[in-house]
Amino acid sequence: MSVLEMRDVSKTYGQGPAEVAALRGVDLAVDPGTMVAVMGPSGSGKSTLLTIAGSLESPTAGEVLVSGAPLAGMSRDELARLRRRSIGYVFQDFNLLPGLTAVENVSLPLELDGLSGRRARQRGLEALDLLGLADRAGHFPDQLSGGERQRVAIARAVVGDRRLLLADEPTGALDSVTGEAVMRLILAACKRGVAAVVVTHDAQLASWADRVVFLRDGRVIDHTSPPPGPESLLEAER
Ligand code: ADP
Repeated sequence: MSVLEMRDVSKTYGQGPAEVAALRGVDLAVDPGTMVAVMGPSGSGKSTLLTIAGSLESPTAGEVLVSGAPLAGMSRDELARLRRRSIGYVFQDFNLLPGLTAVENVSLPLELDGLSGRRARQRGLEALDLLGLADRAGHFPDQLSGGERQRVAIARAVVGDRRLLLADEPTGALDSVTGEAVMRLILAACKRGVAAVVVTHDAQLASWADRVVFLRDGRVIDHTSPPPGPESLLEAER
């Protein structure tokens, strides 16, 4: 069963003359252990696709299913639980809480989900350790480098038993070496069975994915499976 399935999903913002079709009839299925890269010019709907896949917004038309369960049929509480338990988000600006240490940032979703503080901390430390950050657990975000902050954000996104990882330009603010390290971490999460959707402008990084989906004007214009080399990806994006 796919972890994420989008069926004929459309999203329209605004009304009348101000109406914008951000997504038009998008179909996408992402299986466990699979990384899908999403590419396309600015304004093509990449961020909208992620927010709808992550249940942060609902589609205007079409259906979204996470682990086979249609989001449209869920109550607000069920959606909130799904976001806490099953979906990990990594955004470009990291979204770490400045007043919390690295391990507190990572364990927060587990605590919100009812795990005891001690057990949540334990799981948080394990996730940081997996990303080579055990010795940074007690540091606050402003005491970490950009790459370290991004790794903490990834630890937070994969802590617990999350099945779906959604990343918007996770390497955007990083140099190429650190960016590659971040992709490697996402790939490692996929090897453990997580399904990942990664928006990136970088064809080189997209070539790490099992599949690349190209968006233009809210439509999927191409699918590669498996991806060819980075040069042909660049060509398809033109
Ligand atoms: P991308 O991530 O590929 O740059 P987006 O998904 O952010 O594209 O945007 C797709 C289209 O939808 C753009 O035309 C954008 O202006 C529009 N859009 C996105 N979010 C909103 C919003 N909240 N309100 C109105 N229009 C929006």
